[in-house]
Amino acid sequence: MSIKDLAEFIASQYQEKITPVNIIAKNEGLQIFYDNYESGTFDGMTIYVNNRFYIHLNTHNGNSENSKRGRFTLAHELGHFFIDTHRIGLKKGILKPHPSLVNRKQFFSIEREADYFASCLLMPESRFKQDIVKKKFSPQLIDGLCDQYRVSRTACAFRFAQIGNHPIMLIYAEGGIVKWKLESDDFPYKWLRNGRNVPATTVMGEYFNKSNLQDIYKIEQIWAIDWFDYVREDDTRKAFYEYCIPYKNKALSIIWED
Ligand SMILES: [Zn+2]
Repeated sequence: MSIKDLAEFIASQYQEKITPVNIIAKNEGLQIFYDNYESGTFDGMTIYVNNRFYIHLNTHNGNSENSKRGRFTLAHELGHFFIDTHRIGLKKGILKPHPSLVNRKQFFSIEREADYFASCLLMPESRFKQDIVKKKFSPQLIDGLCDQYRVSRTACAFRFAQIGNHPIMLIYAEGGIVKWKLESDDFPYKWLRNGRNVPATTVMGEYFNKSNLQDIYKIEQIWAIDWFDYVREDDTRKAFYEYCIPYKNKALSIIWED
């Protein structure tokens, strides 16, 4: 069974639109601990001792019960339990217990798999697609969906990039350096103009270049050439929109064409 089918089958066992991750864990006999560990150390961790699985969630990183971040982290840890190779690996000690961090997406394949599991568990494809059918893309659409599914804006935009009805690109950066990006398959550009450095002429670049970082959410029109490389000659003045969501030294931008 694919990760998607597995996660969506589990979600389908429950009527709630907000997938009850805590109840799922309880029904599997998993012990969950919400505790205040050091900041920055990890969001979640699953360990196997004395024939039992234990899931630790770090409230210091914002992973409290039923918070958007905590729900995603728990869903990710559930991925390590439900995906056969992960569970067997943890049981046999082949897969070491590891600190899982939100927004560290593309580093390890097991982390990517658990993130994908979480995404499918919290936002099953058929449900999600029903909610966006015939709706025009806008940041408000994402905002509405992330409340309905009680997931973070980032997680929701990520899902939208994968299965949404309008091509978008997501760019996540810290301190002016791009940490990851993801675009819909049919998004027209793949390459960023400045590689890992956020270009100064973008909305995100403007945010990082300000000395006084204020969290303002902004939608602005930009040109393809502000962000992207290999822009075709006749596309140089192609208009896109950028919605930048900053938080301290971090920022997520959603980019789309109208
Ligand atoms: Zn993990």
